[in-house]
Order: sequence, then C-alpha cells, then structure tokens
Amino acid sequence: MNQTILYKVKNNLYINLTNRCPCDCVFCIRQNAPGVYGSDNLWLEHEPSFDEVVAEFEKFPPDTYDEIVFCGYGEPTERLELMIDVAKYAKKEFNKHIRVNTNGLSNLINGKPTESLFENAVDTVSISLNAPEKDEYNKITRPIWDNAFDELLKFASNVKQYVPEVIFTIVDVLSKDDTEKCRKLAEKCGVKLRIRKLDT
Ligand code: SF4
Repeated sequence: MNQTILYKVKNNLYINLTNRCPCDCVFCIRQNAPGVYGSDNLWLEHEPSFDEVVAEFEKFPPDTYDEIVFCGYGEPTERLELMIDVAKYAKKEFNKHIRVNTNGLSNLINGKPTESLFENAVDTVSISLNAPEKDEYNKITRPIWDNAFDELLKFASNVKQYVPEVIFTIVDVLSKDDTEKCRKLAEKCGVKLRIRKLDT
C-alpha cells in the first residue's frame, strides 16, 4: 500500500514518521480528516524505516524546498533516534534548514534526557505550548502524564543550548491575558513565541 511519508506544505517538505502521540489535543487535526494539505492520508500502515524515508527523498528532491519539517500525524519524538538520523542525513546531503514540530514531551516519551541529541541535527524546535498554565494545558492537550506541562517547560529551557532556535507556538484564539502570560513564559524559558492562526 502507498503511504504518505513525505508531503508538501507550502514550500516545505514535511516528514510523517509515526502516528503515535501521548496527547489527545482537543483541536488535533487528526480527528477531522485522514490527511491535510496535499496529502490524502497520513495514517501509516507501518512506521517507515530509515531506508524508506531516504528512498522517498528521490520523489521529493529536497533541493526544491525551503525547509524540512518533522511533523505529520503523530509526535515525531516518538521515533527520536530515527528522526535524528534522518535529520543528520538530510542536513549533510541537502544542507537544508531542519525544523521539528513537537509537543515538547520527548524526555517523558523516551524516559531520559534527550535535549543533547538535537545538536547538529535540528535547527528549529517548535513546541506547541497551547496554554500558559498547567490546568488549562491539561484540559486542552490531555496528555497521559500529569507532569507534562512542567516537563515541556524544562525541555524548552534545556534544548536551546543545543539548537539555534526554540519557539513556543500558541494559536490566536487565546485571550489577550493568556497570550501575555505565554509571552512571559517564553521569555522566562529564553525562547521565542509564535502566535499562529488556528488553521495553519
Ligand atoms: S500533540 Fe499534536 S499529534 Fe498529538 S494530539 Fe496534540 S495535536 Fe495531535
């Protein structure tokens, strides 16, 4: 069966490594459609191997894209080692900017500190913050761990030692007050804040 491992979003090349995720966000696009943007179906029949991902680069030559993004219908750090191997390969072969869109829970997912693994592999770590406080975060993101919010903040503060850019993302439907609190939280963690439109 054909499955979507790579797909195009605007002029970026997205990589779909897994459908696993320890969260169940109320807004997760996976609940609404089998695919987004140009991809018909991001549900994987099986999780791709390193060789399968690399083979896909022949169909989607990275030279023609601005950026390579690990995202897809699942949390990419569920497959951390593979993600890092593919990122290093893509950096070496294609010299492209590499971004990871993540829920920031890599340390909980992998049961160990993982921030240093991002070094020399990833350029931007973009973390879905979603809310400025734990209770609200848990209501929106519904993670399997109660300490997810604190772990996300720790991960963000630590990973910035190893990558050039770390960003918290929130959507533009948060109240002014919550947006301001998120801005302060980003400042405290020493990372940037990006406010994106709900459907982007
Ligand atoms: S972290 Fe991402 S993939 Fe996981 S449930 Fe939330 S929106 Fe969906």
